[in-house]
Amino acid sequence: MEPAYGDRSFAVMESAMNVDQQEIGRFDRLASHFWDARGEFRTLHLLNPVRAAFVADRASIANARVLDVGCGGGLLCETLARMGCHVVGVDMAPGMIEVARLHATEQRLDIDYRLTSAEELAASGEGDFDIVTCMEMIEHVPEPARTMATLARLVRPRGAVFISTINRNLKSFLLAIVGAEYVLGLIPRGTHEYERLIRPSELARWGRGAGLALQELRGLRFNPLTSSCELSRDPSVNYLAHLTRTDERPARIDDPARTDSPAAPS
Ligand code: SAH
Repeated sequence: MEPAYGDRSFAVMESAMNVDQQEIGRFDRLASHFWDARGEFRTLHLLNPVRAAFVADRASIANARVLDVGCGGGLLCETLARMGCHVVGVDMAPGMIEVARLHATEQRLDIDYRLTSAEELAASGEGDFDIVTCMEMIEHVPEPARTMATLARLVRPRGAVFISTINRNLKSFLLAIVGAEYVLGLIPRGTHEYERLIRPSELARWGRGAGLALQELRGLRFNPLTSSCELSRDPSVNYLAHLTRTDERPARIDDPARTDSPAAPS
């Protein structure tokens, strides 16, 4: 049966925005628990100090304009805002944005939260962010390569992009899906789909194609028993990537600073 017109236009919109509404729905329903450090999002709370330090150690953050894509309830946004960044956070789950706004108000933090996607933001002409972060989100979108291209559009030339996600191999399947979701119950069942997990080589290739060069890749080691998390050299399960936008703005032909122009005939 032909889908109703409404369904079809919804699907078109969904793909143009690179958003999976089922995924968004799942996050949206859990949004009110976002700030519960012992709740469904406890692993994000564990991860947060480590990834914030990873960003702060690799990019100049004082007064930096930062965009956090898939910001959830604002965990990383708040930490970066406290460190002196001017932060814009975007997420497609209305509940998450609502929770993020309320929490920032309670904390007296000035953060610009928007219910939108990275693609829509880029299409509206926003960009030139010094730092773009995208944590634990890229494994939930229909076309992650396109997300990489969008992040590249949103960051300024030579700006930094930070991504955290989960590798795809037998070990990550056993630890991040079977272990974390089914055995230990650390995160809700069905959070991660194996096929959507991303190998570092894929992330690096998509980045390269979009003008983002991989600078550094580090593993993140969780210890559920001690409730701690630290950087490691082993990216086989959770990992963090630092990329930089390689291209400069195209030089104008008449730009006197250009050094590659042919010498004028004498
Ligand atoms: N980045 C946050 C939250 C991770 S949970 C953190 O690490 O603390 C993943 C978030 O990504 C959810 O809030 C979900 O709503 C959001 N998300 C998933 N797909 C998205 C998309 N295409 N555009 C914007 N947000 C998205």
